[in-house]
Amino acid sequence: MSRFQIHSNNSDDEILREDDGHDELLVDIKPPFVLLDEEDPLLLAVDGHQQDGAPAATTTTRVPHLDETGISRLPFKCPVGGCQERCCLFMLATHVSYDHSALPVESLWPNEPRSVLLDPSVTADEPPRCHMLCLLGGRIRGLGDGKQRDKLPFALISSKYSLHGAERIVLWVTGPDAGGEHRQRYSMEAGRNESSRLLLYAVAFSGQIVPLHANQDAEEIHRRGAGLVIPVQQLERLINSRTKLLEVCVHFH
Ligand SMILES: [Zn+2]
Repeated sequence: MSRFQIHSNNSDDEILREDDGHDELLVDIKPPFVLLDEEDPLLLAVDGHQQDGAPAATTTTRVPHLDETGISRLPFKCPVGGCQERCCLFMLATHVSYDHSALPVESLWPNEPRSVLLDPSVTADEPPRCHMLCLLGGRIRGLGDGKQRDKLPFALISSKYSLHGAERIVLWVTGPDAGGEHRQRYSMEAGRNESSRLLLYAVAFSGQIVPLHANQDAEEIHRRGAGLVIPVQQLERLINSRTKLLEVCVHFH
């Protein structure tokens, strides 16, 4: 008998994986928007969500082939902390699925939020930690196969950084670099993991991803304003003096 792990807090979008990290059995999530072109459904994607009973939106966007984009093919170090594997765009999702099988791998679409609970209790001298790999559909075609087909991999990273003796945790998303204004944008929010909170999330960031081949260094990310920064005093409140995990929600624009 195989045992399974569920890597989602949305029961409709559960991804079931064998514990040994081999074959992923289920399931691609359904896109929240309609793919219109019946002959080649990967060519056209509708911008926006289709409402129940409403006609499909008419604004379509052609999904470019990877070769038509300026997405970087530069090699990079695996973003999972402590891993020294040299990766390229074409093998990252497979490498993470097999060699870091405990890491949640989530398929999602633009504007579809995804949450993860994480333990932010790291020390400043630990390497950055990876908490989730997001496989984003609807942006390109011509990358990967099977469950990972036509999806761009983005990793959620955290690291601690000390400035003038005051520690803070820095969270950011790293992924394939399309360059300049084409670089993927996302929003990230963090809050206390409990249903009674007054505000859904306490702190937020919105901006561009950090390229996979760039330096994954909390001090540099902090200086460039390229991630979500939470001072440790505020973090202690969000995790209720370390009795709660930190809830982080990511969505890609
Ligand atoms: Zn690795």
